[in-house]
Amino acid sequence: MATPKLHPALDDGIAPTSPDFAGGVLVCACADRPVRVRVEGQVAHNHACGCTKCWKPDGAILSVVAVAPVDKVSVLENGDKLEVVDRAALIQRHRCRECGVHMHGPVERDHPFKGLSFLHPERFEEGGWMQPGFAAFVSSVIEAGVDPAEMDGIRARLREMGLEPYDCLSPALMDYIATWTLQHSTQSAAQAAAETADA
Ligand SMILES: [Zn+2]
Ligand SMILES: [Zn+2]
Repeated sequence: MATPKLHPALDDGIAPTSPDFAGGVLVCACADRPVRVRVEGQVAHNHACGCTKCWKPDGAILSVVAVAPVDKVSVLENGDKLEVVDRAALIQRHRCRECGVHMHGPVERDHPFKGLSFLHPERFEEGGWMQPGFAAFVSSVIEAGVDPAEMDGIRARLREMGLEPYDCLSPALMDYIATWTLQHSTQSAAQAAAETADA
């Protein structure tokens, strides 16, 4: 069986994290007047994601998505081209209306991820951003049209790359959400996690 193609930032070998990475500029795919978004400092919780809501480059079946504190994320140029994909969603994904790339996605309502912004580090002009550490919502790629018969091969490939596949978030993030939920919320941790993928 052919090696499944997952994402350009994964398929040809994962670029290592640089301890010197101090932030950078995310750029959309427009040749004319690209949207540019400044991120201060290293990103966190970078991972591959199979949910149907994360932005993916053409042909990719997973996204690569990380977070940064919202106060470390600022739109530098051409922010007039940004629009929110779904105002009702937990993650306010701001995409370029011309090329479709999601540039930043703040969480504003009460949730364990409030104060974080979701972004796609492959759009950094600079290298050295934190390499992905796991794969989330892997089973959801079936919802996007992947044949269920391919799932064993996809999970095996992820493990081969050192990205443990999960069908929700990673145990560390699920524990974080469950702890916050115990302290703050009447909804369950599973519901809070599902909201991040709008499941
Ligand atoms: Zn664009
Ligand atoms: Zn996702």
